Amino acid sequence: MSSKTAPNVPQGNADPLAGTNLLARYLERTGRSEALALEAKTVLPSGVTHDSRHVLPHGLYIDHASGPRKWDVDGNEYVDYYGGHGALMLGHNDPDIRAAIDAGLDRGTQFGAGHADEIVWARKIIEMVPSAERVRFTSSGTEATLMAVRLARAFTGRNKILRFPGHYHGWQDDMTTGYRSHFNGGAVSGVPDPVAANTLLADVRDIRGLQAVFKHAEDIAAVIFEPLGAATGQVPMDPEFIAELRTLTHQTGVLMIFDEVVTGFRVSAGGVQAKIGVTPDLTALAKIVAGGLPGGAVAGKKDILDHLDFAASSAKDREKVYHPGTFNANPVSAAAGIATLSKLSDGKLLTATDHKAATLRTSLNTVLREQKVAWAVYGKSSAFHLFMNPNGRTIDPDTFDPNVVDQSELTAKPAETVRALRLAMNVHGVDLSGWPGGLLSSTHGDKELAETVSAFTMSLEMLKEDGLLAETLKA
Ligand code: PMP
Repeated sequence: MSSKTAPNVPQGNADPLAGTNLLARYLERTGRSEALALEAKTVLPSGVTHDSRHVLPHGLYIDHASGPRKWDVDGNEYVDYYGGHGALMLGHNDPDIRAAIDAGLDRGTQFGAGHADEIVWARKIIEMVPSAERVRFTSSGTEATLMAVRLARAFTGRNKILRFPGHYHGWQDDMTTGYRSHFNGGAVSGVPDPVAANTLLADVRDIRGLQAVFKHAEDIAAVIFEPLGAATGQVPMDPEFIAELRTLTHQTGVLMIFDEVVTGFRVSAGGVQAKIGVTPDLTALAKIVAGGLPGGAVAGKKDILDHLDFAASSAKDREKVYHPGTFNANPVSAAAGIATLSKLSDGKLLTATDHKAATLRTSLNTVLREQKVAWAVYGKSSAFHLFMNPNGRTIDPDTFDPNVVDQSELTAKPAETVRALRLAMNVHGVDLSGWPGGLLSSTHGDKELAETVSAFTMSLEMLKEDGLLAETLKA
């Protein structure tokens, strides 16, 4: 064990990883990242620009990326499972997307006017996404859910929004209560109480509770959720529950909003809705839709999107929903989006990626069995999640079923073990997403999978040698 400690860990807070081989190896490899992190702290709160990038002793600073891989400023190479927070279904710097972006840049970045590509882009979305009759572009997923909720309120004349704990819909005010805190309905820091009071939270495993909520549906404008389940299926959502929700919403005039910001153009060419055959009223899109550049969209029924339409609003003598936005349907994002959707529209790359993800999940579970660690890797489509077994259940990683485990148990992860695992995977050339888990792109191939499996093996061994992980799997 090395005695090297992390200079970037706040003084007075002893780093639980102090003295471990893991931390020493991480620090040895990432000197330039460390220097940038220290400098960043002088201008950026905590030195970061996204909360999930707050990693101690410091996160990685990336220099460039290609396909399934990225390289940090110290020259280390990683198999990437962040996938641009899910935006990069085709991996980093896909040559076709790159060509479309280059051609777009040649024409200009902001016209302050309509452009032909926004029509092509919208038409592609309408062709691919079952619920899409009309489209409104935004600059991000947060803005897409913001607009979806505003349209729902304008359409129904109701205020309350029904959500499910742990489902993420961006950081706008209405989407904060009950995401990762305030499950009792209170307001998070910076959000007024009356906004939080408009949020209703229900349990995705409790159809009876849901039916009770819908007895007071006259105040509810919409229900919004991630249709694969919280955090891209970390807490799976039963399609039967969604079907029941569709029935209840139809009966009561509550609008159903699918947040397909991650799952859209990933789970299938038409998203989860095409896969499970339930069509929502509105769909929030972002990430893949804009081909790895900033952008988002709300798609849905014409009569709802008509609240953004000048003529339709004045014909009905109602106030139009106001929506400017400097970068709505930005022409370069449009070019990247069209090129991306064109490559994904027949679904072949998505199916192939799903198969690779299934192989990876199986192989990682084999590692867990061999290493005698009672965790499990699970997930659907091109996502994988790690169950870290906080209650010490007796499990078989290969047959682990997340549907029979409570949300709190699925999501309870010992923060220091998660951190140690992520750093260890970094040391062995893999960048996992923070939950921890990951998303594959169409560029992840056998070589990346093999490297990931061996990095996982070596990381678990490292954690054990450092006394950070015990063998818990019962034979
Ligand atoms: N919804 C979901 C399901 C997301 O995963 C995210 C982003 N991670 C958002 C909405 C917000 O999107 P953005 O970061 O583009 O604002």
